[in-house]
This record gives sequence, structure tokens and C-alpha cells, in this order.
Amino acid sequence: MSGQALEVKTPVGDFVNEPFTDFAVPANRQRMEAALKKVAGELGREYDLIIGGERLQTGEKIRSTNPSHPDQVVGVFNAGTPELVNRAVETAQRAFETWRAVPYERRADYLFRAAELMRQRRLELAAWMVYEVGKTWPEADADIAETIDFCEFYGREMLRLGPPQPLTPIKGEKNYLQYIPLGVGAVIPPWNFPAAIMAGLATAAIVTGNTVVLKPSSDSPAIAAKFVEIMEATGLPAGVLNFMPGRGSQVGDPLVLHPLTRFVAFTGSKEVGLRISELASKPQPGLRWIRRTVLEMGGKDAIVVDNEADLDAAVEGVAVSAFGFQGQKCSACSRAIVVRDVYPEFLKKLEERVKKISVGPAEDPKNFMGPVVNKSAMESIQEYIEVGKKEGRLLAGGGRTAGDGFFLQPTVIADVSPQARLAQEEIFGPVLAVIPAKDYDEALAIANNTEFGLTGAVYSKNPAKLKKAAEQFHVGNLYFNRKCTGALVGAHPFGGFNMSGTDSKTGGRDYLLLFLQAKVVSEKVAS
Ligand code: NAP
Repeated sequence: MSGQALEVKTPVGDFVNEPFTDFAVPANRQRMEAALKKVAGELGREYDLIIGGERLQTGEKIRSTNPSHPDQVVGVFNAGTPELVNRAVETAQRAFETWRAVPYERRADYLFRAAELMRQRRLELAAWMVYEVGKTWPEADADIAETIDFCEFYGREMLRLGPPQPLTPIKGEKNYLQYIPLGVGAVIPPWNFPAAIMAGLATAAIVTGNTVVLKPSSDSPAIAAKFVEIMEATGLPAGVLNFMPGRGSQVGDPLVLHPLTRFVAFTGSKEVGLRISELASKPQPGLRWIRRTVLEMGGKDAIVVDNEADLDAAVEGVAVSAFGFQGQKCSACSRAIVVRDVYPEFLKKLEERVKKISVGPAEDPKNFMGPVVNKSAMESIQEYIEVGKKEGRLLAGGGRTAGDGFFLQPTVIADVSPQARLAQEEIFGPVLAVIPAKDYDEALAIANNTEFGLTGAVYSKNPAKLKKAAEQFHVGNLYFNRKCTGALVGAHPFGGFNMSGTDSKTGGRDYLLLFLQAKVVSEKVAS
């Protein structure tokens, strides 16, 4: 990376969310088609591993493929090794010594510049995700909008947290509190928001003065490579952001366990998150700190449908939350808990609604659902569907749809018991369990009856019932009379309770503090 000086152009305006692209507008559709065509011409290229600005090729390659057309190679990536992990962490540590001293306004400016570059390449970046993870046009566009939001929001947050923070004045002393960075961070994102989560974790770490070894998901290294390219174009100094593709099972442990790894910022499954938590906290020779971990993990999110709900709105909210991006959002509705009085009518309307969902290649804008991310995900989801057929009654879907991709029908299993596997385990695919409840109180109790606590929603017109849910429904992000997906940076700081993670709220005003430590300086002065 060039390390050229960057002119500070601190923005004056308040943060506002990046608008979504309206693909009903013919000119926008044409621009997206052109972006898809451009990216199609660039598929299959090889990408280097990058340490301290040095580009490296390794013996082992990871192939990222298109889940809509599995024979199509999106990119070929040089995979890291434990030795290269050591080198990357040590390089990042050296870069930290200078990066930490770069004024915070200047660090923020790299993010503002990155946001600008992403705006210029917005639909092209979205097109990469259409090919790499099977996001439909609006889903891919929203992912990039959120990525831009993270850059703009965290940049502004750094401007707020950068100066000395106020303390209670006392006589005879001059005191101040300054937030300082931690050190080298391992950034380990998932594939499901392959731009927004990956870049959100990395930019939060960088803007706060830390340096990063970014290990992208092996299902989505191409969009991560594009992000690294953009950060290089901002002039970010070499070594601040190191790019380390590699299988989690091979490079994960060495990265977490390196004695110079000061923190791990992870988003992904409960299993991997808990493993990182355990490994990161183990005492080791040479380890001079308690490693910090920011762990955002899975969900088993529920929408409660009350007998006083607008049923049409509830059906729409459930369908969109359950099947948007093929149910592969951590916030996706995987349980609809419906009060018995309205249960039969709800099922009837839901069945009709789900039949209208079209499934097929993500590059075709006619499809509301694309493929699931890979073959093993598809097989695991199919196994759950078989379990569901035994645990409940198949109401809709249940099989594959035509095409060479990993296409599954939107699947609804009704009459599921709250204790069933389908009601307890994260499936991470287009499978919805519908659970009847005798009344609203029982519905809330069922909603809380899993180990997770990420998102939830309630459909009811009764304000007293909504108040009760606000007090009792134990999730990090609770929505009333709307879908349980689609959190916006700044407006809906996002993160869950219990086994859903460490309660870190991305896109919120506490978030950057997870990447900082507070130093207090007290000086005796003449009173
Ligand atoms: P995953 O399998 O846990 O993988 C996440 C990341 O961890 C990937 O980069 C993966 O690399 C890496 N990894 C795998 N094994 C590792 C190890 N032993 N040590 C260190 N890193 C390792 O999760 P995923 O399938 O990508 O993502 C889906 C999960 O993420 C779901 O559970 C979803 O609910 C959760 N999620 C949560 C949130 C939230 O905000 N709470 C948001 C999005 C997603 P490889 O790809 O190379 O295996």
C-alpha cells in the first residue's frame, strides 16, 4: 500500500444512511446489468495474499465459486499457512507502532475516502456478491449501502471519541481521559454479509488505530479482495490491513493464538465463536494481555403474531424475514409463533404468499430468492427439512428447484413444538417453523425459549402487549409491526444476547469502544 499522505477532508454533516438503489427505475436496471457484465468479464482471476504491502503467491489455492452456477469460478485465492500468519501478525505489530500515532482525524479520513470510492463502484461491488454468494440485486445493493454506512458512521464516531474525553473537574489536578488503540486484531468475518460485516469489523479496528490481519470467509474472499483494493487506493499505509485468505480450520488457530494478537473481531457461527472465545482466553507463554474478543454469533429469531395483529402485514413480514437472502441472515425469522385464534388463517395466508416466491439464479432480477451458499449448506438444510417433516407438517416447499445451482424452495413446517430441533437449532436456510401458542403470554415464553437472543418481532395492535414484549422479549434487536431483518447503521445498532454473541452493537455509538482502551492522565497543578 502506498502510504501517501492523505489530505484531511473531515465531513461536516451528520451521518445519514446511504439510500438503496431503486431497480424499478430502468436506468438503474441498465446500470446493474452493465455492472454484472463487467464483473462477468473479470471472474476467475487469481488474487494475492498481502502482508505489509507485499503480494504473495502460495502453493495452496482456494477457489471461490458461484452458488447459482457452481462450475463458474469467481476467483482463485492464495491460501495462508501458519508461517504466513506469524509473519502477518508480526508485520501488523510493526505497522501498529506508527499507525497508532497517526492523528485520529486522518485515520477517519481514510474511511471517508473509502466510502467515496465505494460509492463510485457501488453496483460493480454489488455484482461481485451476486456472483460470489448468490445475493439478489436488492440484497447485494443493501450490503454495499451498509458497507458505506459503516465507513461514514465509524469515521464520525472516531472524530467524537478521538479528543480527550471530559472528566469531573477536581481542584489541584488537571485530568483527562484519552482512548487509545489495542494493537493487532484478527478480523474473521462470515460470508453472509461478505462486504458489510467484513468491512465493518475491519474499518472499526483500523479507524481506532489498530492494525489488522483480515481472514475472509473461504466462501467470499473476492469481495474482501475488492475491499482491500479500495483501502489501498485510499493510500492506507502498508501493514495496516493485511489480507490472509485461508481455511479457518488451518489458519484460524494460529491467528487467534499468536501472542501478538491483541484482539479477535469475529462474526459467524456459535460453534466457531465459542472455540475462539476459549482459545483466546488461554494463558500462554509470552502473552502480555487478556485477549479481547468481539464475538457476534448465531440466532433462532422469532416473530410473534398476536390475535390482535394485522394478519396481512404479519404474513408479509414473516415471509420477507424468513426467505430474504434464502434465510441466510443471522436476523432471519426462523420461527413464527402464532396465537391459536388466528393460527389457521395465518397458515392459509402464509401458504399463498410463499407460493409466489420465485427461486433461481441470483443474477436474474425476477428471482426473489437465489441459491444457498454452497453444497454442504444445501445438504445440511435438506437434512433439517427431513427432520422437520417428522417433527411437524410440511406446509410449503420441502425440495430443490430446477437448475444447476444450490436452489431450495422456501419451506414452511407447521405445527412444530417449541422443544423440537426445528424450533431450537439454527438452520441458516429457507426453512421456517410455525409454532402455535395458546395465548400471547405463552407466545412470548416460547420466543424466549432458545439459547439465542438476536432479533425478534411482534405483530400486535395492542400497545399494552407491545410494552410487555419490550420488557420481556429478550433479544438484542426487537421490532414491532415490521420485519425482523434489515437493521440500519446508526438507527438500529445490531447485536444479540446469550449465545448470539458478546452484545456488541455494530453501527452503534458504543461499538468503537470495543476496539479501544481508556488511559487517564492526572497531573498535579497549583490550586
Ligand atoms: P462460520 O462457519 O463460523 O465462519 C465464520 C468465519 O470463521 C469464517 O471466516 C471461517 O473461515 C472462520 N473460521 C472457521 N473455523 C475457524 C476456526 N477454527 N478458527 C477461526 N476462524 C474460523 O460462520 P459462517 O457460516 O461464515 O456464517 C454464518 C453464521 O454467522 C451463522 O451462524 C450466523 O447466524 C452468523 N452471523 C451472525 C451475525 C451477528 O451479527 N450475530 C451476523 C452474520 C452472521 P472459513 O470460511 O475458511 O471456514
